[in-house]
Amino acid sequence: MQTSPAAAAQATRSARESELRTQGQEQGREESAVPALIQVSGLQKTYQTARGTLTLFRDLNLQVEAGEMVAIVGQSGAGKSTLLHMLGALDTPSAGTVYCASTDVAKLSAREAAVFRNREIGYVWQFHYLLPEFSALENVAMPLLARGTAKREALAAAAKWLSEVGLADRSDHRPGELSGGEQQRVALARALVNNPRLLLADEPTGDLDETTAGRVFDLIERLHASHGLTSILVTHNLELAGRCTRALRLESGRLGPLA
Ligand code: ADP
Repeated sequence: MQTSPAAAAQATRSARESELRTQGQEQGREESAVPALIQVSGLQKTYQTARGTLTLFRDLNLQVEAGEMVAIVGQSGAGKSTLLHMLGALDTPSAGTVYCASTDVAKLSAREAAVFRNREIGYVWQFHYLLPEFSALENVAMPLLARGTAKREALAAAAKWLSEVGLADRSDHRPGELSGGEQQRVALARALVNNPRLLLADEPTGDLDETTAGRVFDLIERLHASHGLTSILVTHNLELAGRCTRALRLESGRLGPLA
Protein backbone atom coordinates (compact mmCIF):
# COMPACT_ATOMS: atom_id res chain seq x y z
CA MET A 1 0.00 0.00 0.00
CA GLN A 2 1.28 3.48 -0.87
CA THR A 3 1.65 5.87 2.07
CA SER A 4 1.01 9.59 1.64
CA PRO A 5 3.84 11.98 2.59
CA ALA A 6 1.62 13.38 5.39
CA ALA A 7 0.95 9.94 6.87
CA ALA A 8 4.60 8.91 6.58
CA ALA A 9 5.73 12.13 8.28
CA GLN A 10 3.21 11.67 11.06
CA ALA A 11 4.31 8.08 11.66
CA THR A 12 8.00 9.08 11.80
CA ARG A 13 7.21 11.95 14.15
CA SER A 14 5.05 9.80 16.44
CA ALA A 15 7.87 7.23 16.64
CA ARG A 16 10.40 9.93 17.54
CA GLU A 17 8.10 11.53 20.10
CA SER A 18 7.45 8.15 21.68
CA GLU A 19 11.25 7.61 21.76
CA LEU A 20 11.61 10.95 23.55
CA ARG A 21 8.88 10.07 26.06
CA THR A 22 10.58 6.76 26.77
CA GLN A 23 13.88 8.56 27.34
CA GLY A 24 12.09 10.96 29.70
CA GLN A 25 10.50 8.09 31.64
CA GLU A 26 13.83 6.26 31.86
CA GLN A 27 15.28 9.38 33.40
CA GLY A 28 12.44 9.54 35.92
CA ARG A 29 10.62 12.44 34.26
CA GLU A 30 6.88 12.65 33.75
CA GLU A 31 5.52 12.79 30.18
CA SER A 32 4.93 16.52 30.56
CA ALA A 33 8.69 16.92 31.08
CA VAL A 34 9.36 16.15 27.39
CA PRO A 35 11.66 19.04 26.52
CA ALA A 36 10.58 21.90 24.25
CA LEU A 37 11.56 21.28 20.66
CA ILE A 38 13.74 24.37 20.75
CA GLN A 39 15.44 25.64 23.87
CA VAL A 40 17.93 28.46 23.46
CA SER A 41 19.51 29.68 26.72
CA GLY A 42 21.97 32.48 27.34
CA LEU A 43 22.96 32.58 23.71
CA GLN A 44 25.89 34.79 22.83
CA LYS A 45 27.08 35.44 19.32
CA THR A 46 30.00 37.57 18.33
CA TYR A 47 31.79 37.97 15.04
CA GLN A 48 35.39 39.10 14.73
CA THR A 49 35.52 41.69 11.99
CA ALA A 50 38.24 43.96 10.64
CA ARG A 51 36.69 46.74 12.74
CA GLY A 52 36.71 44.72 15.97
CA THR A 53 34.26 42.43 17.75
CA LEU A 54 30.65 42.62 16.63
CA THR A 55 28.31 41.41 19.38
CA LEU A 56 24.98 40.32 18.00
CA PHE A 57 23.53 38.47 21.01
CA ARG A 58 24.59 38.71 24.66
CA ASP A 59 21.85 36.71 26.37
CA LEU A 60 19.22 35.54 23.94
CA ASN A 61 16.61 33.06 25.15
CA LEU A 62 13.92 31.24 23.23
CA GLN A 63 11.68 28.29 23.89
CA VAL A 64 9.46 26.82 21.21
CA GLU A 65 7.07 23.94 21.83
CA ALA A 66 6.37 21.27 19.25
CA GLY A 67 3.65 22.39 16.86
CA GLU A 68 4.18 26.13 17.24
CA MET A 69 4.48 28.41 14.21
CA VAL A 70 6.61 31.31 15.35
CA ALA A 71 7.29 34.48 13.36
CA ILE A 72 10.43 36.50 13.98
CA VAL A 73 10.49 40.09 12.78
CA GLY A 74 13.16 42.74 13.24
CA GLN A 75 15.19 45.32 11.41
CA SER A 76 17.69 44.30 8.80
CA GLY A 77 20.95 43.41 10.55
CA ALA A 78 19.22 42.49 13.85
CA GLY A 79 20.53 38.92 13.56
CA LYS A 80 17.44 37.00 12.41
CA SER A 81 19.27 34.95 9.80
CA THR A 82 22.14 34.31 12.21
CA LEU A 83 19.68 32.95 14.77
CA LEU A 84 18.07 30.63 12.20
CA HIS A 85 21.53 29.48 11.10
CA MET A 86 22.36 28.50 14.67
CA LEU A 87 19.06 26.64 15.11
CA GLY A 88 19.77 24.80 11.88
CA ALA A 89 23.38 23.94 12.79
CA LEU A 90 24.74 26.11 9.99
CA ASP A 91 26.59 28.36 12.46
CA THR A 92 27.77 27.90 16.05
CA PRO A 93 27.08 29.99 19.18
CA SER A 94 29.95 31.85 20.85
CA ALA A 95 28.47 30.83 24.24
CA GLY A 96 25.20 29.54 25.65
CA THR A 97 23.21 26.53 24.54
CA VAL A 98 21.05 25.82 21.54
CA TYR A 99 18.96 22.69 21.90
CA CYS A 100 17.07 22.03 18.74
CA ALA A 101 15.06 18.88 18.05
CA SER A 102 16.57 17.23 21.17
CA THR A 103 20.09 17.96 19.96
CA ASP A 104 22.74 20.24 21.44
CA VAL A 105 23.64 21.64 18.06
CA ALA A 106 26.84 23.38 19.15
CA LYS A 107 28.34 20.03 20.06
CA LEU A 108 27.89 18.50 16.61
CA SER A 109 30.88 17.86 14.39
CA ALA A 110 30.57 19.14 10.81
CA ARG A 111 29.56 15.65 9.67
CA GLU A 112 27.01 15.20 12.48
CA ALA A 113 25.61 18.66 11.71
CA ALA A 114 25.07 17.65 8.08
CA VAL A 115 23.21 14.49 9.16
CA PHE A 116 21.18 16.49 11.71
CA ARG A 117 20.16 19.04 9.05
CA ASN A 118 19.24 16.34 6.57
CA ARG A 119 17.09 14.48 9.11
CA GLU A 120 15.55 17.17 11.29
CA ILE A 121 15.53 20.50 9.44
CA GLY A 122 13.69 21.76 6.40
CA TYR A 123 15.19 25.07 5.33
CA VAL A 124 13.75 27.61 2.91
CA TRP A 125 15.30 30.94 2.03
CA GLN A 126 14.12 34.10 0.31
CA PHE A 127 15.67 32.79 -2.89
CA HIS A 128 14.89 29.26 -3.92
CA TYR A 129 18.47 28.02 -4.55
CA LEU A 130 17.19 25.25 -6.78
CA LEU A 131 19.83 23.71 -9.03
CA PRO A 132 19.19 25.17 -12.50
CA GLU A 133 20.33 22.16 -14.52
CA PHE A 134 17.98 19.73 -12.78
CA SER A 135 14.20 19.33 -13.13
CA ALA A 136 11.80 20.25 -10.33
CA LEU A 137 11.40 16.52 -9.60
CA GLU A 138 15.16 15.94 -9.37
CA ASN A 139 15.60 19.04 -7.18
CA VAL A 140 13.01 17.77 -4.71
CA ALA A 141 14.61 14.31 -4.67
CA MET A 142 18.12 15.69 -3.83
CA PRO A 143 17.91 15.51 0.01
CA LEU A 144 16.76 11.88 -0.23
CA LEU A 145 19.55 11.00 -2.63
CA ALA A 146 21.99 12.73 -0.26
CA ARG A 147 20.97 10.39 2.55
CA GLY A 148 21.40 7.33 0.33
CA THR A 149 17.80 6.59 -0.70
CA ALA A 150 17.58 4.59 -3.93
CA LYS A 151 16.93 6.83 -6.95
CA ARG A 152 13.60 5.24 -7.89
CA GLU A 153 12.26 5.58 -4.37
CA ALA A 154 13.57 9.15 -4.07
CA LEU A 155 11.92 10.20 -7.34
CA ALA A 156 8.63 8.57 -6.29
CA ALA A 157 8.65 10.45 -2.97
CA ALA A 158 9.56 13.68 -4.78
CA ALA A 159 6.63 13.20 -7.16
CA LYS A 160 4.23 12.88 -4.19
CA TRP A 161 5.65 16.05 -2.69
CA LEU A 162 5.35 17.98 -5.94
CA SER A 163 1.74 16.94 -6.08
CA GLU A 164 1.29 18.01 -2.45
CA VAL A 165 2.48 21.53 -3.33
CA GLY A 166 0.23 21.59 -6.41
CA LEU A 167 2.94 21.15 -9.04
CA ALA A 168 2.49 17.59 -10.30
CA ASP A 169 2.22 18.96 -13.84
CA ARG A 170 5.52 20.89 -13.60
CA SER A 171 7.77 18.04 -12.48
CA ASP A 172 9.94 18.03 -15.60
CA HIS A 173 10.33 21.83 -15.68
CA ARG A 174 13.71 23.25 -14.80
CA PRO A 175 13.73 26.11 -12.26
CA GLY A 176 14.13 28.68 -15.06
CA GLU A 177 10.87 27.41 -16.56
CA LEU A 178 8.87 28.08 -13.37
CA SER A 179 7.35 31.26 -11.94
CA GLY A 180 8.72 32.75 -8.70
CA GLY A 181 5.85 31.30 -6.67
CA GLU A 182 6.29 27.88 -8.30
CA GLN A 183 10.03 27.93 -7.59
CA GLN A 184 9.31 28.59 -3.93
CA ARG A 185 6.76 25.73 -3.86
CA VAL A 186 9.41 23.39 -5.26
CA ALA A 187 11.86 24.69 -2.62
CA LEU A 188 9.26 23.90 0.07
CA ALA A 189 8.77 20.38 -1.28
CA ARG A 190 12.56 19.90 -1.27
CA ALA A 191 12.76 21.22 2.31
CA LEU A 192 10.14 18.76 3.53
CA VAL A 193 10.81 15.65 1.45
CA ASN A 194 12.85 14.12 4.31
CA ASN A 195 9.98 14.64 6.77
CA PRO A 196 11.90 16.94 9.15
CA ARG A 197 10.39 17.99 12.48
CA LEU A 198 11.36 21.61 12.02
CA LEU A 199 10.78 24.08 9.21
CA LEU A 200 13.09 27.12 9.25
CA ALA A 201 12.09 29.77 6.73
CA ASP A 202 14.10 32.94 6.14
CA GLU A 203 11.91 35.51 4.36
CA PRO A 204 10.25 32.74 2.31
CA THR A 205 7.88 35.19 0.64
CA GLY A 206 10.24 38.18 0.55
CA ASP A 207 10.94 37.96 -3.16
CA LEU A 208 7.32 37.49 -4.25
CA ASP A 209 4.51 39.89 -5.14
CA GLU A 210 1.77 40.30 -2.53
CA THR A 211 -0.74 37.86 -4.02
CA THR A 212 1.85 35.16 -4.68
CA ALA A 213 3.37 35.72 -1.22
CA GLY A 214 -0.07 35.19 0.34
CA ARG A 215 -0.53 31.93 -1.58
CA VAL A 216 2.90 30.59 -0.64
CA PHE A 217 2.19 31.50 2.99
CA ASP A 218 -1.17 29.68 2.77
CA LEU A 219 0.75 26.62 1.58
CA ILE A 220 3.28 26.90 4.43
CA GLU A 221 0.39 27.11 6.93
CA ARG A 222 -1.28 24.07 5.39
CA LEU A 223 1.91 21.98 5.34
CA HIS A 224 2.75 23.08 8.89
CA ALA A 225 -0.61 21.78 10.12
CA SER A 226 -0.89 18.65 7.99
CA HIS A 227 2.66 17.43 8.71
CA GLY A 228 2.72 18.28 12.42
CA LEU A 229 5.67 20.63 11.90
CA THR A 230 7.21 23.15 14.23
CA SER A 231 7.98 26.23 12.13
CA ILE A 232 10.02 29.38 12.59
CA LEU A 233 9.56 32.05 9.97
CA VAL A 234 11.57 35.22 9.60
CA THR A 235 9.51 37.84 7.83
CA HIS A 236 9.19 41.58 7.30
CA ASN A 237 5.51 41.15 6.60
CA LEU A 238 3.59 42.02 9.79
CA GLU A 239 0.30 40.75 8.39
CA LEU A 240 1.80 37.31 7.74
CA ALA A 241 3.56 37.39 11.12
CA GLY A 242 0.16 38.01 12.71
CA ARG A 243 -1.13 34.75 11.23
CA CYS A 244 1.49 32.70 13.13
CA THR A 245 0.72 31.18 16.53
CA ARG A 246 3.29 33.56 18.07
CA ALA A 247 5.15 36.59 16.76
CA LEU A 248 8.41 37.85 18.26
CA ARG A 249 10.58 40.87 17.58
CA LEU A 250 14.36 40.58 17.58
CA GLU A 251 15.79 43.85 18.78
CA SER A 252 19.08 44.76 20.49
CA GLY A 253 20.03 41.11 20.65
CA ARG A 254 16.88 39.94 22.47
CA LEU A 255 13.57 38.44 21.52
CA GLY A 256 10.38 39.97 22.88
CA PRO A 257 6.69 39.91 21.99
CA LEU A 258 5.74 41.81 18.86
CA ALA A 259 4.14 45.01 20.19
P1 ADP B 1 19.22 39.93 9.62
O1 ADP B 1 18.89 38.56 9.14
O2 ADP B 1 18.41 40.32 10.84
O3 ADP B 1 19.12 40.98 8.56
P2 ADP B 1 21.91 38.88 9.89
O4 ADP B 1 21.77 37.77 10.86
O5 ADP B 1 22.01 38.51 8.45
O6 ADP B 1 20.73 39.94 10.13
O7 ADP B 1 23.19 39.72 10.25
C1 ADP B 1 23.33 40.38 11.51
C2 ADP B 1 24.61 41.18 11.54
O8 ADP B 1 25.73 40.29 11.62
C3 ADP B 1 24.82 42.03 10.32
O9 ADP B 1 25.30 43.29 10.73
C4 ADP B 1 25.85 41.26 9.52
O10 ADP B 1 26.67 42.13 8.77
C5 ADP B 1 26.65 40.55 10.60
N1 ADP B 1 27.21 39.28 10.14
C6 ADP B 1 26.51 38.22 9.68
N2 ADP B 1 27.33 37.20 9.37
C7 ADP B 1 28.59 37.63 9.64
C8 ADP B 1 29.90 37.05 9.53
N3 ADP B 1 30.06 35.80 9.08
N4 ADP B 1 30.95 37.79 9.90
C9 ADP B 1 30.80 39.04 10.36
N5 ADP B 1 29.60 39.66 10.50
C10 ADP B 1 28.51 38.97 10.13
